[in-house]
Amino acid sequence: MQKIKPGRFGNFGGQYIPETLMTEVNRLAAAYDHYKNDPDFQAELTTLLNDYAGRPSRLYYAKRMSEDLGGAQIYFKREDLNHTGSHKINNVLGQMLLAQKMGKTRVIAETGAGQHGVATATVAALMGMECEVFMGKVDTDRQALNVYRMKLLGAKVHAITTGTGTLKDAVNAAMQEWASRVDDTHYVIGSTMGPHPFPTMVRDFQSVISREARAQILEATGKLPAAIVACVGGGSNAIGAFYNFINDKDVRLIGCEAAGKGVNTDQQAATMETGRTGIFHGMKSRFIQDGDGQIAPVYSISAGLDYPGIGPEHVHLAETGRAEYVGVTDDEAVDAFEYIAKEEGIICAVESAHAVAYVQKLAPQLAKDQIIICNLSGRGDKDVAAIARYRGVDIHD
Ligand SMILES: *Cc1c(COP(=O)(O)O)cnc(C)c1O
Repeated sequence: MQKIKPGRFGNFGGQYIPETLMTEVNRLAAAYDHYKNDPDFQAELTTLLNDYAGRPSRLYYAKRMSEDLGGAQIYFKREDLNHTGSHKINNVLGQMLLAQKMGKTRVIAETGAGQHGVATATVAALMGMECEVFMGKVDTDRQALNVYRMKLLGAKVHAITTGTGTLKDAVNAAMQEWASRVDDTHYVIGSTMGPHPFPTMVRDFQSVISREARAQILEATGKLPAAIVACVGGGSNAIGAFYNFINDKDVRLIGCEAAGKGVNTDQQAATMETGRTGIFHGMKSRFIQDGDGQIAPVYSISAGLDYPGIGPEHVHLAETGRAEYVGVTDDEAVDAFEYIAKEEGIICAVESAHAVAYVQKLAPQLAKDQIIICNLSGRGDKDVAAIARYRGVDIHD
């Protein structure tokens, strides 16, 4: 039935799914192959991205921060200015337009902090589709505001109590639900993870970030950046920010993982640094595991980076030496969250603050005529209460 295993990035990726899902996943791959080359589909998607989500996002020169750090010139790609407040909407609009073309009337999604769930519920309202979101019980308690947001948008939210009641359990529940009802339902996976075609398809939908950023930096400065820096959870905003620079060999690609309380503790989520090869959630990739090869609990102050795996293309980019991955701790991310707020007047997502923290380290090592582009994956309103708590401030949230 299959030729060469599809959706491979070197040794990683592939399709490791139950037989009950194989037919549907292959239908999806075929539909995606067709529509990605269909000019009408692409035109419709571009209109949605521009008119509904607010693209293209700005590339902003951070003058004060560049001067303060005294090295490279720093530019921010402002995905935080998108509708619903993050890059997630780029992928959701693409997948849901595709789902409509496939005749689906219902979507399901997993969510951790709730950003992907909110984006999916938003586009379901826009397109008049039924929407159910799977979210760990622990996360529904932590992120009550986003749960209510999804309900306002007309979605049904399922609180998942199995396992640790967090993101990986929500993914398991959504996969099970999909396997039991594929006829009218598409599963909108929120990052570059899962079985083929998801890692490729999500990357393509997010690559609008680097397509715009590459043109914008050339127009603004006439040259390419020395480095692109982005935070990495499952890896979608990072691969989107990297993709159109991969062939520019002099541009360093740097992914920032959540090192939580430190990579030498068991409270961290730095998969590239501390994970091992494994098969989980439909893909061969790298995962944080215990001694028996079970997926280990992970931790980060940012719910969006709190995932025990990473997209397979990132593992390939790391193994071939094309991209670098660094750990950033909670402490460093919180400092950066406050720094960019005071220095540039931008309250960014705590996920994005992991990238900002590394820019603070990197910029002084580079020359003044070099450029860093840092992807601001989302805005930080959702994180203000948690940052206050981290600082021991009670704001009655
Ligand atoms: C979900 C999320 C992330 C992490 O997901 P990736 O797939 O790694 O991009 C990062 N930043 C924000 C703002 C998010 O909402």
